Amino acid sequence: MNKTTTETTRQNGHDGEAGIDYSVPVLYQRGDVYNPETTTALSERMRDVIRLLGEDPEREGLVKTPERVAKAYQYLLHGYCMDYKAILESALFHESYSEIVLVKDIELYSLCEHHMLPFFGKAHVAYIPDGKIVGLSKIPRVVDVFARRLQVQERLTIQIRDAIQEVLQPLGVAVVIEAQHLCMMMRGAEKQNSVTTTSAMSGQFMDPSTRSEFMRLVQSSKP
Ligand SMILES: [Zn+2]
Repeated sequence: MNKTTTETTRQNGHDGEAGIDYSVPVLYQRGDVYNPETTTALSERMRDVIRLLGEDPEREGLVKTPERVAKAYQYLLHGYCMDYKAILESALFHESYSEIVLVKDIELYSLCEHHMLPFFGKAHVAYIPDGKIVGLSKIPRVVDVFARRLQVQERLTIQIRDAIQEVLQPLGVAVVIEAQHLCMMMRGAEKQNSVTTTSAMSGQFMDPSTRSEFMRLVQSSKP
């Protein structure tokens, strides 16, 4: 309740940009914990955006919208305050298994950095352990670390590969992302249902036979 009170006071305070220190980004933490200063600053600007687009930010249905949008963006972009190293290192185990480990159909939601519109789809992530395996639930979390940022699909694919390569030092990593981009679908481009596929490989996955085994596993028995 304290937090809400503070936010309301500040929003009604109309002290413009004063008091907002942009040099110290206080970041979103987790769950429904939002930084009140960030929420206030974003809300004030969203109110301007609504007004500039020809709507009345004071009408009933929109009164709370700026604050909701402010919180939604903090959630959608919370990857900036996640640490892939800490996530992966929290569940590393020694194991002599050295075949492909594949986590497929990982749900993925991101925002394109050109339009800040969503792109969404599935990620398939594989690696070949070299003495170390990681708890399987950590792989989707690493996808989220990079997906919950302003992104392009190509860079997202490479960042996931490089993070796993760096921490696990496996014999190889393979990442495939299939996604649909609302900036293409909603803005009148003709390819409304097109899916963009990107891939990034390292180590043994550069070898054509390992690569095609991975692709076969990804394509088999789609749920
Ligand atoms: Zn875009």
